[in-house]
Amino acid sequence: MSAVLIDGRMYAAELSASLADEVEELAAAGVRPGLATVLVGDSYPAHAYERRVRRLAQKVGCHYVCEALPDDAAEADALAVVGKLGADPRISGVLILRPLPPQVSEASLYRALDPIKDIESVHPISAGLLALGRPRYVPSTPASVFHLLDRYLTESGRDPAQTYAQSNLVVVGRSANVGKPALMLAMERGATVVSCDEHSHGAGLLFEHTVRADILVVAAGVPGLIRVEHVKHGVIAVDVGINAIRDSPAGKVHLVGDIDTADVARRAEAITPVPGGVGPITDVWLLHNTVSAARLAQGIGASFPATEGLQLPAIC
Ligand code: NAD
Repeated sequence: MSAVLIDGRMYAAELSASLADEVEELAAAGVRPGLATVLVGDSYPAHAYERRVRRLAQKVGCHYVCEALPDDAAEADALAVVGKLGADPRISGVLILRPLPPQVSEASLYRALDPIKDIESVHPISAGLLALGRPRYVPSTPASVFHLLDRYLTESGRDPAQTYAQSNLVVVGRSANVGKPALMLAMERGATVVSCDEHSHGAGLLFEHTVRADILVVAAGVPGLIRVEHVKHGVIAVDVGINAIRDSPAGKVHLVGDIDTADVARRAEAITPVPGGVGPITDVWLLHNTVSAARLAQGIGASFPATEGLQLPAIC
């Protein structure tokens, strides 16, 4: 492997340390940020993510609550939980874990969130602010992608603003939570942006675009979708995908990304591993947004800038 492996765990550890200090400072002012997760059903990734977030919330000193509902819960019950959390003054931020069972509409739960507690910017008002380049909270996964890229570009001796302006940046995947907000952040940074999804793949257009990317962000949920022949020499590749694979029907689960790391590393300048790339930063960013929400609720003002080192619009 010749590419640089970008170490998300190291960046996450730094962010986590500064977050713990911030929570301590807020505690001295009598404020304790509170995170609530809403977990409906038995999905393995949702439960795994809930456990990680719970551990981190406890580690940095935030109040934490998980509202778990059974797989056959009615949408009305899930909506009632979201409404209850909106009214709870101990809760600063609410995360709705995905995937939801089919009878519970993601869009309905998102609309029921209190926008001030919408730390993933999924409520229509928050998504609109993000699209206008004035996000209240930058959603955790795309924020992590660009935190990692901004840091890597700076540490490799480049000016990030200039590099983005000169880059073709391709985002594979167009979900409301990851792909679309990643496109917004890429546009804010002045990159020339291309968005591809499953339709692009179906139409045979996907790799025609990925092969032109200077910076490639992949969030499709398809293990090993991107191989060496799909990228250009010197690409900087960010793998958002987390796919749980079993070696055999009864075998151990291991996690792989959407990029075939070893293969693409033969051509890439730099690549993020799975696990250990985007994921660890995402977890910390969610808590960072929770702390920002607690500050907003108390009128204390914004915490560390969501977009380091770049001239982006302030939190509205
Ligand atoms: P999603 O299923 O909501 O959306 C997937 C997107 O990828 C869709 O736009 C779809 O059209 C597109 N897609 C599917 N197959 C494709 C193909 N063959 N070619 C091109 N595009 C294709 O998923 P999501 O929530 O956006 O998550 C995507 C991946 O990122 C998943 O593996 C998920 O586990 C992972 N994820 C990781 C983090 C993290 O912190 N690292 C956070 C959230 C999600």
